[in-house]
Amino acid sequence: MKPSNLHLYEEELANLQASDNLRRLPQALHRGREIETADGVMLNLSSNDYLGLAADAGLRSEFLRLLTPENLLFTSSSSRLLTGNFTVYEEVENLLADLFGAESALVFNSGYHMNTGILPAVSNARTLILADKLVHASLIDGIRLSAARCVRFRHQDYAQLEILLRKHHAEYERIIIVTESVFSMDGDVADLARLVSLKHRYDNVMLYVDEAHGVGVRGRRGLGVAEEQGCVADIDFLCGTFGKALASVGGYVVCRRPLREYLVNRMRTLIFTTALPPVNLEWTKFILERLESLEERRERLARFSSQLRRALHGRGYDCPSQSHILPIMVGDSHEAVRRAEEMRRKGFYVLPVRPPTVPEGTSRLRLSLTAALTQEDIDRLIINL
Ligand SMILES: *Cc1c(COP(=O)(O)O)cnc(C)c1O
Repeated sequence: MKPSNLHLYEEELANLQASDNLRRLPQALHRGREIETADGVMLNLSSNDYLGLAADAGLRSEFLRLLTPENLLFTSSSSRLLTGNFTVYEEVENLLADLFGAESALVFNSGYHMNTGILPAVSNARTLILADKLVHASLIDGIRLSAARCVRFRHQDYAQLEILLRKHHAEYERIIIVTESVFSMDGDVADLARLVSLKHRYDNVMLYVDEAHGVGVRGRRGLGVAEEQGCVADIDFLCGTFGKALASVGGYVVCRRPLREYLVNRMRTLIFTTALPPVNLEWTKFILERLESLEERRERLARFSSQLRRALHGRGYDCPSQSHILPIMVGDSHEAVRRAEEMRRKGFYVLPVRPPTVPEGTSRLRLSLTAALTQEDIDRLIINL
């Protein structure tokens, strides 16, 4: 028998276990705003279904009535570049472009495909990427796959960003500033208007914004933080996912027409993969058509978020959140695991977030609220914090 190096992996797993950083795939059944695991039925406070659309059976019934064997297609059988470009793809892209008042939009299989595909496609060795220190792993992977040089600036430290721009703008063909709008782990919100004004100082600087946690939730029409801050038209790559508040699957970018055409020619995670099944695009279109009318849900979520934020501050917790994502900072991974278990015993499905998802020493409980919760749920949660 050949010697196996399996034990090397097993040792590493044992180390992860010892430091309480071992991950498992949790089993769970979804029951509206609740979740059922081996520990029982709990209020789901770890969901990305921010508007409660995924939990809404009425909405699904309405959608099902629109389906026929002709448009209920479970596969596209091909890349969009070959035979997979079904009409519904362009319907969704035109709808997005109309909603955002933009020239064009392009849809991807997931937010992960979007972030790992766009940056390598639009940059080269004469590109500098300036990325916020806390951007999502998918953006880090996109940066790693690109030929660009990258410098990470301290989280939301735009004074440092300004210095980097001044220092480097003449050395590179282009600079791309990369940020999230609502940060996925701290729940704080980028000052996009300030980033736009920094960008406009130089003619070779572009802005890339990932609205994964902003779209659907923020802005009067639900278009995200860029809408809220009035800078949709100033963002070169306005990206988001359909997988969270919009209760579907896929990613998108809203951009100028030449950029879309360039991506179609150069973006490997668009070109070399089978496109999403058309039925998923039908559902995305169904949701997007209703996006503007979901204002009541957005208001409700904002109300719950500020109630919980006030309560956390009142208890002396350091909570940087300005959104529906509310971390309870714990620091130590063991303590975060223990505190999350305690919350679950009380009937609240809360998960610890540990390294490498967050920096070493900043383990936390991550609460994400949804519009499917009730005022009684929030009151009960606050009493049990
Ligand atoms: C979830 C997430 C993604 C990935 O989107 P998927 O559609 O789930 O692949 C990208 N960026 C951020 C900031 C995210 O939180």
